[in-house]
Amino acid sequence: MTIKEYLENHREEMIDFLTELVAVRSVQGKPNGVYPFGKEPAKALEIMLEKCKESGFTVENVENYVGTADFDDKEPSLAILAHLDVVPEGTGWHSDPYVLKRSGGQLIGRGTCDDKGACVSALFALKALRELNIPLKRGVRLIFGTNEENGSADLAYYRKKRQLPPMVFTPDGQYPVINAEKGMIRVYFSAPCFDDLIIVSEKIINAVPEKCVAVYGANSKFSCTGKSGHASTPEKAENAITKFLEEFTKEFKNPLLCRLAELFPHGETDGKSCGLGFSDDISGKMTCVLSMLNANKVAGLKGGIDIRFPLDRTFDEISGIICKSLENAGFKIDSCEGTEPHITDENSEFVQSLLRVYERVTGDKGYCIAIGGGTYVHEIEGGVAFGAEFPNENGNMHGADEFITEENLLKNAEIMAEAIIEICG
Ligand SMILES: [Zn+2]
Repeated sequence: MTIKEYLENHREEMIDFLTELVAVRSVQGKPNGVYPFGKEPAKALEIMLEKCKESGFTVENVENYVGTADFDDKEPSLAILAHLDVVPEGTGWHSDPYVLKRSGGQLIGRGTCDDKGACVSALFALKALRELNIPLKRGVRLIFGTNEENGSADLAYYRKKRQLPPMVFTPDGQYPVINAEKGMIRVYFSAPCFDDLIIVSEKIINAVPEKCVAVYGANSKFSCTGKSGHASTPEKAENAITKFLEEFTKEFKNPLLCRLAELFPHGETDGKSCGLGFSDDISGKMTCVLSMLNANKVAGLKGGIDIRFPLDRTFDEISGIICKSLENAGFKIDSCEGTEPHITDENSEFVQSLLRVYERVTGDKGYCIAIGGGTYVHEIEGGVAFGAEFPNENGNMHGADEFITEENLLKNAEIMAEAIIEICG
């Protein structure tokens, strides 16, 4: 029997198990005794580890932060890192987000695409190798995290307690292989607010704002609408705050807002007017988004900026430039934090192995991609994202009616099984 046939024979079991995981609303909760992220993420982990154990793998629960399953007792050379926590359901669903709905080849429910589907595929990849008696020379470990959506404190904890295998991929991004991720900076700044002005915009630092409303003078209202989007791809969105600044400062010559409008001209997304505007050959243009602006007499004026910077720059350099520009314009820096860029050599044997497998299983061309967002392996040297979304497919990750197709649930398992053989066989 081939791996593909094995998976086809276990299609119903895979879907049943995904149904069981989706039914747990594993959204981050308050720390509670032995549950660092609340009870629900730990419950999803418990269900997963029970199934792994039942399937004959050696499991470990690292204090409800992370759980692992080892194929055999060999020291693992490869880890597949996926996560069982999910973002809240939000609104707009056409069915219960926590009751898996099977419809026209789609499996709809929160977490199906990000990242419970990949967790199920990883387990069944291992089961296929075990039950088909495919020998492995080197060990492989599945790592299931429970805090990817809220800062990956799970992984940080795990890395303090255990060593990661030398090769790690996460099926929590896209195919073929993501090997480069821009550096990221989040700047929060403030200034005293002048009288009679209230500004309200969304308070999400990593999203391009959709709405910005100001109330001033004797209850006059000024409102701007843009198009929301992820802060790492601002060119696909329209920033309501910069639009507001451009239009509002035409009439109201408040010096502070005028200087902010000069630093962030509407339509500019690379921070050129702040002294940035850098790019590199692999990841392209950097991004710099004024994503938050709120003001009132009591709290003062507060703003936030999301920056994704090129692979050849450093946090110190970029943060120095943006902070100086803001300070020169009269703003105070409240905090400035971030991460360095992440890059794994495209020509490494590990990356080349993954690309070979991708080409063999899908028949499509394998290549490496650079992104502005950060994946689960951003802090892991030599790590890459490998799947689980295919190019030009969109499973409504983090949105309503999130789904994965049955076909891709199985194909992901096949690709993972083949990757394990390629690297550990
Ligand atoms: Zn994810």
